[in-house]
This record gives sequence, structure tokens and C-alpha cells, in this order.
Amino acid sequence: MRGHAFEARAKDDGGTELIRLLCERLGDGSPPPPGPGGVDTPDLAASGPEGRTARTALALREATAAGRWALLDHPMLALSVAGTPAYLEPDAVVVHPDGGWTVVEIKSFAMVDGAADAAKVGAAARQAAVYALALEPVAERIGDGASVRHSALLVCPKNFSNLPDAALVDLRKQVATTRRQLDRLTGVADIADGLPHGTTFDLCLADDGRTPTRPADELAAAVDAVGAAYAPECLAACELAFHCRARSRAADAVQTLGRALRAELGGLSTIEAVLAAAAGEAGDPGDPAVAALRRAARLRAESLETAGAASCP
Ligand code: SF4
Repeated sequence: MRGHAFEARAKDDGGTELIRLLCERLGDGSPPPPGPGGVDTPDLAASGPEGRTARTALALREATAAGRWALLDHPMLALSVAGTPAYLEPDAVVVHPDGGWTVVEIKSFAMVDGAADAAKVGAAARQAAVYALALEPVAERIGDGASVRHSALLVCPKNFSNLPDAALVDLRKQVATTRRQLDRLTGVADIADGLPHGTTFDLCLADDGRTPTRPADELAAAVDAVGAAYAPECLAACELAFHCRARSRAADAVQTLGRALRAELGGLSTIEAVLAAAAGEAGDPGDPAVAALRRAARLRAESLETAGAASCP
């Protein structure tokens, strides 16, 4: 509720204050901020996500051609994720008079003396990068000088007040990372092609519309037929988390220890292989992950020895 109230307040003058903040953060290279009535706020209402996406694209085209400041409030964008469109709704997109587009993220966490919580800023930057990626094909289609700026305007309450403060957040790294991740995703059609014929997740609900009639073991077998990449983060986000965790533990997979650790361990994919590498029983000593594990094991043994000697009378 606080976030919604702050967002409404940040936009309640038709976007003039937001664009003034943007011009201020852009510095000398920016055109002068608009005066009252100098910001176009096109109507983006349409039915359904496809209709809203098309209306947004039209508004972006018209605003870019007009060569004026424009604020698109809650536009709708489509991003192809593994061949399937995902619909996204940024807080706002600003169209500059030169045809540049800036994503605006409005958050309720405070900006104290111009700085905010780094983890929250990072999450906002990742979110804004996805919006920037969704805008890119629209800008390419429109041409005519339209371009997506790779800095987002992050707007937050200033020093715990209700007044907006803002900072430009560089999105280049997040855009490149997200683009790589999206490119690596496997399309749903490709996943479906690799499943046994007739695989279905249909619960076959009874006439009452609630009771599943499909045997649980059949459903579990269908779920098991699809590969999974469990990580502890799944526990906060996915209903299948306990199932995938049990599968991962049964397979002794290092994913159960977290994505960061998984990335550090290179080609070692099971906990047994990690322990064997640390003990010097397996693994290539030239592999940096194996070398780091052995060094860690040595340091641990030395610490335990020192602690043991110190506790002897
Ligand atoms: S818990 Fe969900 S998100 Fe995580 S691997 Fe399983 S299905 Fe995928």
C-alpha cells in the first residue's frame, strides 16, 4: 500500500516532477525539463494483454514522432521467453524529445542521502533490464530515431519522507546477463518433444471440480519426466520445491547447496565428488575448483589440529 501511495504521489502531476528528476540526473546533456503541460501522457487503455501491448507500441511510435517529452504510465510490453510471450508492466517509460526511451522503476524503499540498499537497487536494476530488453524490438520496429537507453531512473522516497528522489542506474551488465540467460533457455516445444508420448499434468478433476481422480503416482511420474534444476531459492517461489528438493537430494546434487556454490564447483556435480576431490581421492589437481577444495580441506585440518593442541592441558 505504501508503494502504491508513493507511486501515485510521484506521478500525480502528470509526470512533470519525474521528468524534472530525470533531467537533473542526466545533467548537462539533457534537454531542459518540461514546464506545466509539457509532458504527454497517452491513454494506454485497451482490452487484454495483447491489446494493451499493441496500444503501448502505438503510443511509443506517436510519442517518438512527436519529439516531445511523454510519460507512458504502466505500459504493457511483451518479451519472448523461450518462444512464449511474457507480458510485463513497468511502472513507467519516459520518451525523450530525441527519441530515447527510459524505463522508470518506482520503489518504496528509502534513498538516504542519495544512496539506497545495494541489494534492493540490484534487484530493481535486474527488473528494469528485463523491461529494457522487451522495449528493444519495439524500438527496432519503429526506427525513426527510437532507442532504448540503458540507464533506468530509479525513484524512491527521499530520506524516509514521501518526497521522490531519483538515481540513474546503469543497466548494461544486467541487460547483457539477462539476454544471455534468455538465449540459453530451451523452448517449451523442445521440452515437450523430449517427453514420453502422452505425458500430461492433467489432474482429471471429478465432477465437483475439486477432487483429482488421476492416481498420484502417475502424476509424479509425469512430473519426474521433466528435468529440473533445483536450487534453495525455489523454496520461496515454486510449489514443486519440496518435490524437486527430494529429487535433488536423492541424486546427491550440489544444487541443493545453492546456485552460487554450484557455480564455484565447476564440473563437480555431486556432493560425493566434491568430498572425494577435497580429500585428494579424485579430481584433476589442475582444476581450480579441485585445487581450492584441497586447500580448504588442508586449512580445516590445520585449524582443527591447532584447536586440538590448544585445548590439551
Ligand atoms: S522447484 Fe520449481 S523452479 Fe525449482 S527446479 Fe523444481 S520446478 Fe523448477
